[in-house]
Amino acid sequence: MAGGEVTHTGSGSNSDHLRRHNLSVILGLTHRTGGLSRAQLTKQTGLNRSTVAALVAELVDRQLVVETEPDSSGQVGRPSPMVRPNPGAVGLAVNPEVDAITIGVVGLGGKVLKRIRYPTPNGATATEAVAICAAVIEGMRSELDAGYRAVGIGVAVPGLVREHDGLVRLAPHLGWVDEPLARMLTDATGYPVVAANDASLGALAESTFGAGRDVTDLIYLNGGASGIGGGVISGGVSLVGIAGYAGEFGHTLVNSAGVICSCGALGCLETEVARAPLLKLVGLTDADGDELELALTASRSPAVLAEVERQLDYLAVALRNAINVFNPQLVVLGGFLGSLYAVAPAYLDQQLAHQALHAAREGVTISRTQLGSDLLMIGAAELAFESILSDPASSGSARLGGHLRTHPTGRLRGAH
Ligand SMILES: [Zn+2]
Repeated sequence: MAGGEVTHTGSGSNSDHLRRHNLSVILGLTHRTGGLSRAQLTKQTGLNRSTVAALVAELVDRQLVVETEPDSSGQVGRPSPMVRPNPGAVGLAVNPEVDAITIGVVGLGGKVLKRIRYPTPNGATATEAVAICAAVIEGMRSELDAGYRAVGIGVAVPGLVREHDGLVRLAPHLGWVDEPLARMLTDATGYPVVAANDASLGALAESTFGAGRDVTDLIYLNGGASGIGGGVISGGVSLVGIAGYAGEFGHTLVNSAGVICSCGALGCLETEVARAPLLKLVGLTDADGDELELALTASRSPAVLAEVERQLDYLAVALRNAINVFNPQLVVLGGFLGSLYAVAPAYLDQQLAHQALHAAREGVTISRTQLGSDLLMIGAAELAFESILSDPASSGSARLGGHLRTHPTGRLRGAH
């Protein structure tokens, strides 16, 4: 049979590898966009129509996407079915903070379906935090089992997290040192658990779903009850450093005549820019981000404005340094830093205009997070979704352990 088909040894596994890769591409596109028509998927992937149809059918079988009838109104030509993330495929998100532990259920596509804030006014040890999470998840178990398929748990930790196994090396405000959080949470719940630094996850969530979509160079700074964290995405790649600890803008020097920080150094950003004095000024003891912002904008008293401007002065110093070092296109402010900016946007813009090098400053946009108070839930859930996004064909065989993989966008840290 001259010219006939040649069967290469191993072609079966090669085509299997290719199929799995293409499943990942299709699922990733669907996840990040919230849904595309089959025709758009065909166009964006460059695969042929029948291949896309078969891949989508497999993802439907695996209950990761749903296909719906096309919205044909106003369209020219044959309408194409819409492919959307299956809202029943969910990740569980956990964010322990000094004043509360928040646990969420997040659908594929980054939609927060449920959020429970469990106040911990006296803080919580890692063991207590794990017990609280396990109890809250157990309380949702019948609901989860009935309507959803949870693929795992992602944890956004306000501290330094060792990337490859989810060991919390140091969460100073929680008082956690070398806590094997991911393993403890797996033992307590049976789900695979991945943990990472909260601000890195905020940067990832904003770059995937929020203000940083289609932006390759951005700096993200988040202000939480625990202090200030940050993340940098440079050239489309998340900068993590040698072990995952990069982006600690909260501990950069902004006041050489300042006070000693919890980290032991002098005049760190988070010693000057902090949530506690803002809460005190508006007469609150415990509040989530939305409540604090509402109180700040409603008050606008001279005392509040003076404190906001004082804090923005120091934030501007940190941003000047970051802008001059990283030459970003976008600076995204999350948590109470976004609230500070919302109270006096022109003030911060003006401070920055005088400080950062003109060439680096021009073209930089300052923005608030678009994902608001859902940000860390969405970021943590991205961790939970990571293994299913990188290999949808592995779904159903939950992989235990805390290994991060390269995100399908190439944006997330390369692990290992
Ligand atoms: Zn410090």
